Amino acid sequence: MEQKENSTNTDIFPIGIFPVEDALEMVLMFNQTGEISYANETVRQKLEYDKDLCGRHISVVFPNTFRAAEDDFDMEHFELGILQNLVAYRKNTTCFPVEARIIKSEICPEMYICMATDILEKEYLGREIERIKQESQEAMKVKSEFVANVTHELRTPVNGVLGNVRELLERELDEGTEKSLRVIERCCDDMNKIINNILDFSKLEAGKFNLEPRKFQFRNMLEYVKANHINKITEKGLDFFMTVSPQIPEYIIGDELRIVQVLNNLLSNAQKFTSWGKITLEVFRTAQVNDKIELFFIVSDTGIGIDAGDRNKLFQSFSQVDASISRKYGGTGLGLNICKQLVELMGGRIDVESEKNRGSNFTFSIWVGVGEGEEAVLQRPDDVKNSMTFASPEDASDGGNLENVRKYGTQDNQENLRKTLSKLILCVEMENWEKAEMFMETIRQLTEEAPWEVKRIALRLKMAIQKENYEKVTAEFEALNRFL
Ligand code: ADP
Repeated sequence: MEQKENSTNTDIFPIGIFPVEDALEMVLMFNQTGEISYANETVRQKLEYDKDLCGRHISVVFPNTFRAAEDDFDMEHFELGILQNLVAYRKNTTCFPVEARIIKSEICPEMYICMATDILEKEYLGREIERIKQESQEAMKVKSEFVANVTHELRTPVNGVLGNVRELLERELDEGTEKSLRVIERCCDDMNKIINNILDFSKLEAGKFNLEPRKFQFRNMLEYVKANHINKITEKGLDFFMTVSPQIPEYIIGDELRIVQVLNNLLSNAQKFTSWGKITLEVFRTAQVNDKIELFFIVSDTGIGIDAGDRNKLFQSFSQVDASISRKYGGTGLGLNICKQLVELMGGRIDVESEKNRGSNFTFSIWVGVGEGEEAVLQRPDDVKNSMTFASPEDASDGGNLENVRKYGTQDNQENLRKTLSKLILCVEMENWEKAEMFMETIRQLTEEAPWEVKRIALRLKMAIQKENYEKVTAEFEALNRFL
């Protein structure tokens, strides 16, 4: 068929409105008589045509599949929508195999669209991808082995020094010597932490990290974590508060060591970057699916906080907010990246909310198992009454039946929530943050059984109140109000 004069792609389908122009796949359009009206850049390159493919017949490209004669052209017998192996011919009559699918255009039903990929190129690319994948796996393996060897070699002398220092510390020593030995001991401990971090990081990066879930006593674990930090926290003159929701069962199934690792990292950071005020650790049960529960942890501090611009750097590897911080406080910047990877392995996510000089809230969620017969310890109505922190005695009687009040969605519950919320916002307006926190506790309990999105807002509201952030409180208040 003769090529039509002055016919270009853009005459028929302006490139701006036709997004397939830059597709890697070959895309051709032709009409019911087989006349090509569009060919994208890939077609033009592969078939070595310029703009002169439009106006030609589709049989020029696929002579083995379509007849050239206009009268004979018949798409009736062509299996539309099926991936088929065809042979595509270049302008210079050389050819190559393609995988092609032809469909009827939905926008212009009188048009057919042919999408094709070069089979040889696809196979070549597949082989290349496989080769690169193998090369990178090999490189990763070499790197992991190297890191494992180096960390082992480092650990041996560090532990040698540490052992000797501890032995010396047991002797009668003058004040100066003891002080120096304590510094060496602390340096060795820090060095061991860094070595462990590098080893964990390398294993996580190589995808070789396996969780080891087992049944353990959740509150005992928290007490252990608290014992790890309480001395350093109180030495700095800081307060420490820990709250654990009674809805979390006694025993849970999870990787205790790794949960401790995440908590240790967050609490060490909180302690490191806070010089006055308080550190809090709170844990809630936020969801349950069959025998799995979601635990939500909040570690808050009143420390130096983090700039908005620096927050997204936090969870990257080897990232510290700035050089002055690493000089002053030390560390490798791996801790939070490891926490993120561990939390994600445990099915959750880690986030931070913070403002410069106004403290930080690190939150993370994980999914853990509940042992057989270890149903969540749900509160009895009496316990509910005792544990609800009503701001004033008459509030408790407001709702009538306490069980009903607590059940999210009941009329009593929603009424109580609305009342408590309006009291809370009044306290916030009057900058009575302490009382606002009390109302917040009531709201938290009234939303304990609420859907996840409501609970999230309630938690964010709680954090905003703790940080006395007026704008955030009003925004979350509005968001929560919309649900009621
Ligand atoms: P490292 O392993 O060196 O402690 P992390 O990944 O734990 O590093 O933390 C990275 C950086 O994040 C810290 O150097 C600090 O700048 C910032 N950061 C982490 N936690 C806090 C916090 N609670 N308050 C302020 N800054 C923090």
